[in-house]
Amino acid sequence: MRIGVVGAGLAGLGAARRALELGSRVEVFEEQETVGGLASSLRAAGLAFDLGPHTLYAREPEVLRDLEDLLGTVLRPVRPTRGIWRDGRLYRFPFHLGDFARVAGPLRAAPPLLAYLAARAGGRVADRIGRADPVDLETWAVRSLGRPLYAFFVLDHVTKNIGLPPSRLPALWGRQRIAVPRLGTGLAQLAGREEEAPASRYPEGGIGRIAAALADRVTQDGGLVRTGARLVSWARAAGHVVLRADTRDGPVVRTVDSVVNTGPVDAFLLGADTGTVPEPVRAAAARLRHRATVFVYTSTRGVPADLPRDLLYFPGKQVFSRAYTPRGYAGGPAGGAPAGHCFEIHCDPGDELWDAPDGELGARVLRDAARLPFLGARARLRVERIVRIRRHYPLSDPGSAELRAVEHHLDRAAPHVVSAGRLGSHRYVNMDSALRMGALAAEVAHGRRPPGEIRRVADDPAFVEGGGRGRCGGRGR
Ligand SMILES: Cc1cc2nc3c(=O)[nH]c(=O)nc-3n(C[C@H](O)[C@H](O)[C@H](O)COP(=O)(O)OP(=O)(O)OC[C@H]3O[C@@H](n4cnc5c(N)ncnc54)[C@H](O)[C@@H]3O)c2cc1C
Repeated sequence: MRIGVVGAGLAGLGAARRALELGSRVEVFEEQETVGGLASSLRAAGLAFDLGPHTLYAREPEVLRDLEDLLGTVLRPVRPTRGIWRDGRLYRFPFHLGDFARVAGPLRAAPPLLAYLAARAGGRVADRIGRADPVDLETWAVRSLGRPLYAFFVLDHVTKNIGLPPSRLPALWGRQRIAVPRLGTGLAQLAGREEEAPASRYPEGGIGRIAAALADRVTQDGGLVRTGARLVSWARAAGHVVLRADTRDGPVVRTVDSVVNTGPVDAFLLGADTGTVPEPVRAAAARLRHRATVFVYTSTRGVPADLPRDLLYFPGKQVFSRAYTPRGYAGGPAGGAPAGHCFEIHCDPGDELWDAPDGELGARVLRDAARLPFLGARARLRVERIVRIRRHYPLSDPGSAELRAVEHHLDRAAPHVVSAGRLGSHRYVNMDSALRMGALAAEVAHGRRPPGEIRRVADDPAFVEGGGRGRCGGRGR
């Protein structure tokens, strides 16, 4: 079989690798000059950074063993610390009830903690009598935490990050992303017990090494990985798929038996030749929504000032929503003094922040950073590089009419046309799931599995950051 793969991120490279194992001929088209997609490392101010604070949450030991074999090195266990900066105080994140009581003070903490206890106890009874599962994130979080803790930790944080209030997001989003202590864990936290967070993994030399190693393996196994090659259109023809790409060597046309798309599914469907994708499906694809991110990389001049946690969230008035120090990342000063910080601005394509010129965004970041007591004027930050990602978080609800229309179409187009990965399936997944989806997509293209199995990877309600069901609330409580 001949398989064309669109995108050399982890899903695309995972698909290419599996398709080669299954005996196909494979050609990968990647529009960027480098492989890795969202899981890339890049350079600024003479240092290499990851795009975002990536660590690998591989919950399955065989995934880790496979990646270590591929990289020829052990993946280092890491436990990045996280905090949320709110009203001039620093709280632990994911929240810890003992920490909340200590930082907020007993008077401020008592009512939210009582509401939490009531919510947990009430939830147990309600589950026993068969209360229906919540559909939206707000209902889920209020039931899990009580309204005051929801208002304190979830409402502003999620609204600023995602651009939608929790009442308009699915409960699944919360179950996968927000660690909620069960009653026993919550009581233990209040009694001062510490529990070590599950480790995630990090490859020496930067997160971009995973994609680089995958691309090498695909090439060694006889596949072709073309960078600087953008798929511009495609069409179905007599049981085949014709792909047209613009490459640095000029236009390329390929006839393949199957195409596995891992770029944005909306752009992919809209790029099909006239008549290939029905108009209602194109209209549905055009309605899929994404949240964008602007990454503002800074360096530190003068006295380097550290952040109090590896990753900080800012639900307040600051222009940025997250900040972190890409310390010790690819080529960075391993274990040494911080060389700068990255500030993430979450926005919507076309809004005031997205449209602002780089100089203005950089100035706003520096102004708000200077007001943080742990940075202040001492840090003397300088903006080094600004990176804009237009499609960062896929936002449409898996139950929405537009996504269902797109999926219904793709299910019928398989095994000739398959779409997978974070933007290819329009699901907010992590690297481990992107890799798994890619491998499954190759199997779908070979007719070995139904396409719905790809989506199932993303729709598992378990907490995605390695905590597992037991630790963080089971059925999403
Ligand atoms: C800031 C940030 C932090 C993150 N943190 C973590 C973390 O800590 N842990 C974790 O596990 N995950 C994390 N993730 C998520 C993780 O990066 C993604 O889930 C994963 O990399 C997605 O891989 P993918 O292959 O599905 O998609 P992508 O990486 O988006 O790959 C798609 C590729 O397709 C290419 N493409 C698109 N259109 C075309 C076209 N027309 N022609 C040719 N090529 C095209 C793109 O250039 C891209 O390379 C984070 C993501 C970000 C952005």
